[in-house]
Amino acid sequence: MAADQPTVLVVEDEPAQREVLRYNLEAEGFRVAAAGNGEEALVLLDEEAPDVVVLDWMLPNLSGIEVCRQIKTRSETRGLPVIMLSARSEEVDRIRGLDTGADDYVVKPYSLRELMARVKAQLRRARPAAAGLRLEFEDIVLDSETHRVTRDGQELKLGPTEFRLLSTFMEKPGRVWSREQLLDRVWGRDIYVDTRTVDVHIGRLRKALGAHGGEDPLRTVRGAGYALG
Ligand code: CA
Repeated sequence: MAADQPTVLVVEDEPAQREVLRYNLEAEGFRVAAAGNGEEALVLLDEEAPDVVVLDWMLPNLSGIEVCRQIKTRSETRGLPVIMLSARSEEVDRIRGLDTGADDYVVKPYSLRELMARVKAQLRRARPAAAGLRLEFEDIVLDSETHRVTRDGQELKLGPTEFRLLSTFMEKPGRVWSREQLLDRVWGRDIYVDTRTVDVHIGRLRKALGAHGGEDPLRTVRGAGYALG
């Protein structure tokens, strides 16, 4: 499995529906985190740093609308795309009217193919590097299709790990990533890697980025992790 697989958080209280979603999303190459209620969803948001959320409206206790509102209120998760699932089209009209900030709405029973297409559309918007696009930050350009990186027009030599680290940073300039989050995203969760390994590769990435001069664009945030810019 690719280490930088995008993660989808599925929030659905019906176990059978949750498993159908998990199965199909995994078949499409996503990593899936699944929650059976809104409270659990909020915990997984922090733990899993998902790229897209598929959120059922009708959940016990904390409703999908409330979960969506919390996602869109917190500064760390505001940009996270949320696709709301609802049982009837009138309900979808109602939740649209509620201004929850959801990015898309799908009516149950949905076509899995359509839902997958919508998840991918949201991902293209939120994680362009995973969708194979060109990213720019100041004088740094990263092409995730050709795996080439240039700075001020000069090609940089990056190892595969440094390339994945840089694309993670370039997808969300300014965002502070903890070492654990970088491990999950760059190395994958199934491998045990010491968090100090992150520091070693950050050092290599800094060296590669400075190969032809220019200021160090990476910021070490004491007690928190690293950020670009
Ligand atoms: Ca439900």
